[in-house]
Amino acid sequence: MRVALELKDFAKYPFLKESQQFMGRNADSIEEFLRSNSGKIALRHAMDRIRAALRPSGQRDREEDLPSDGLGVKISVSGYVLARIIVSCAGDRSLVERLARYEAQRAFRFLIDEEEEKRLFVAGSIGMNGAGSDLPVIQYVEIVAGLHEERWRLVNRDVESGQVRITPAEMNELLREQVRVILLRQLPLRVPETVCSLLQPQTEEIRGIFQQTMLEQFGAVEEDAFPPCMQALIAALTGGTNIPHAGRFALTAFLHNIGMAPADIIALFCRAPDFDLGKTQYQVEHISGRGGTEYTAPSCAAMRTYGICVHSDRLCEKINHPLNYYRIRKKKGKKPEPGESTGTSQS
Ligand code: SF4
Repeated sequence: MRVALELKDFAKYPFLKESQQFMGRNADSIEEFLRSNSGKIALRHAMDRIRAALRPSGQRDREEDLPSDGLGVKISVSGYVLARIIVSCAGDRSLVERLARYEAQRAFRFLIDEEEEKRLFVAGSIGMNGAGSDLPVIQYVEIVAGLHEERWRLVNRDVESGQVRITPAEMNELLREQVRVILLRQLPLRVPETVCSLLQPQTEEIRGIFQQTMLEQFGAVEEDAFPPCMQALIAALTGGTNIPHAGRFALTAFLHNIGMAPADIIALFCRAPDFDLGKTQYQVEHISGRGGTEYTAPSCAAMRTYGICVHSDRLCEKINHPLNYYRIRKKKGKKPEPGESTGTSQS
């Protein structure tokens, strides 16, 4: 389907191939661009984008002034590109995930006001061909893999002749999810060391803001608010049971992500029967980012694959990441709501 894109569409949907084509070929290297005046403006724009991505969605500006001239659009699209480069240099998966989620949400806000023709064009551009009121089962299943609300489960959908019925509002939600997944798949980018060195002040600033945001969001560690899987891993450790490598990784990353100090994480692991201080110290520091890459605890889907999603409860049905469970439980207070934490089945 051919649709005439307007200038501002490139700023709205910078991930489209047309937006990249609009930028044209630039003879400057990225290093030269970063040193140029327009590069400096684009860098400021990129930092604004990442700062917005790190803010909780409720604290972000609802409206965004879109540029109306070619230069403004180029700065905006360059800001999108540079933001991806900066988070790639920062080497932290959580930052990458935050940016992908932010970009998807941003595109979603524009898409819901778009005319049908343009909406379908954007959908087609990101691989959701023929996205009208239904989707082929295989495509549907792929797109909803990261969505854990009951309503997305195939058994709860109308399926006819291999097509899953979707309402227009749901289609926008699936578009947002598809953008997120595609952007996540592309990141982190392979960025030359020289470029990352030039961007070091920005990556450090972003890491600092992120750390602060995590502290504000998670606050003091509250073990009672841990999700059942993490409680089970801790119980296994305390009980003197060896836990598999995937479990150690998940627990360490989770504890690190919620702000527990490496020394406290090591103290927890010393309860394990096969505790080895040197090895544990190395693993904890590695997962906490000493090697330059900070790790994020696995999602619920990954935990299920490893076979360490256990005792899931009713809150688990509404979330897709153990960190979300912890965040929600802390906000609500530590006590589960009546009937909420009754599950004991292995999921
Ligand atoms: S659903 Fe997620 S949070 Fe709940 S127990 Fe399983 S992995 Fe943990």
